[in-house]
Amino acid sequence: MKPITIAIDGHSSCGKSTMAKWLATQLGYIYVDTGAMYRAVTLFALRRGLLTDGNPDTTALERLMPAVEVSFSLNHKTKQPQTMLCGEVVEDDIRTMEVSEHVSKIAALPFVRAAMTQQQQKMGEQGGIVMDGRDIGTAVFPNAELKVFVTARAEVRAQRRFDELKAKGMEASFEEILRNVQERDYIDSHREVAPLRQADDALLLDNSDLTREEQNAWLLQQATNVIKASEN
Ligand code: C5P
Repeated sequence: MKPITIAIDGHSSCGKSTMAKWLATQLGYIYVDTGAMYRAVTLFALRRGLLTDGNPDTTALERLMPAVEVSFSLNHKTKQPQTMLCGEVVEDDIRTMEVSEHVSKIAALPFVRAAMTQQQQKMGEQGGIVMDGRDIGTAVFPNAELKVFVTARAEVRAQRRFDELKAKGMEASFEEILRNVQERDYIDSHREVAPLRQADDALLLDNSDLTREEQNAWLLQQATNVIKASEN
């Protein structure tokens, strides 16, 4: 029996990565954070000076795209996956507010999406994967056996992100984060290529008022149901 593909999409900062990672561990599946891939491309563009006044130099970035190598490796200390850009660990560098401010514009570029989508499809071709992002159930794996669309109230999401950055000792303002979360939602859902939307066959999860334990229990139950059904 081929292991299944699980797509977890949804709005910014609603805990998709944490829940997807947890689920993958429970099932012994591979976990892929596709947001990290778009963040890595954004970091590349920032480092090369390809973002002036927030606008990407699309011609230069498109020319340089073949040099943008995004991959994941295991951090042996934390036992967590870490994002690599051209062989360098960039896990913390891609989580800054500066990257968050620019990532949705970079992720809207069709040539960036084409390159990332191709890599993601390759990573998941054997199944046994939990992938989180914005377009996994609609564009990357439209035939995924389980699709979940996650959302939560914007204020709740901003507070979680604020707490997360603070815990890491990073500078953050709640208002700035709230504005960023709302802006990314807007750009992500209005872009031309693979906009953020709930796939017709995705289950909706609003976790505004759920504890992590309640959410995880629900998620594992859905996955178990689908895996059992696929075995019959
Ligand atoms: O998941 P995360 O918030 O880290 O994603 C960062 C950004 O990457 C999103 O705001 C979105 O613009 C973009 N993204 C995307 N498609 C994906 C995953 C992320 O466009 N599959």
